[in-house]
Amino acid sequence: PIFRQAVFFQTVADLRDLPGDAVREVAFVGRSNVGKSSAINTLADHTRLAFVSKTPGRTQHLNFFALSAGKYFVDLPGYGFARTPEDIRGQWEGLLAPYLRYRAPLAGLVLVMDSRHPLAELDRHMLEWFAPTCKPVHILLSKADKLTRQAQAAVLHTVMEAVGKINVHCSVQLFSSLKRMGIGEAEAVLGRWLDM
Ligand code: GDP
Repeated sequence: PIFRQAVFFQTVADLRDLPGDAVREVAFVGRSNVGKSSAINTLADHTRLAFVSKTPGRTQHLNFFALSAGKYFVDLPGYGFARTPEDIRGQWEGLLAPYLRYRAPLAGLVLVMDSRHPLAELDRHMLEWFAPTCKPVHILLSKADKLTRQAQAAVLHTVMEAVGKINVHCSVQLFSSLKRMGIGEAEAVLGRWLDM
């Protein structure tokens, strides 16, 4: 594994609290329960790291994990945690949208989607909305262990074809935290983004 020393760094609830010394970071986004925390833990080589994002007071915020000096994985709130439309709007407009649009150290976005239910409406919106940043998106089709080989190949093909029409800066791969599948492929992409 190339990301070894990952440690919890900071929970950010307000844009003013973003780490100023960031060199490069990669943000993880996805619907609740798709396996985002498991994927971060697997890639950060740390069994329980990303589950701190699920502790009270942290689920709505940006959670920073330090990989090495000034390099971070940033766990964004899972879509679907906000209780009301007002919460969603407030969180989106106040924190997430400006972070994703204007954060200079953000090298790219990892979008985690359950390989059995890829490209939900919110995933499509995210891809469309992020496209103007011209920053790359890497899609992890998670829980791939739940699919047969044939179904894996089919979903990979379908998603690749579909996302190319929504956002041209996209790459796609199969992933399983449970079976430790796709780790090298993900590390190669994120390592390139983070210059590690
Ligand atoms: P998050 O809400 O997106 O952060 O998702 P979690 O990482 O907490 O995972 C949600 C559920 O999916 C948990 O019950 C995990 O055990 C399960 N899960 C996560 N990754 C995998 C995987 O690669 N394979 C399988 N079969 N289950 C997984």
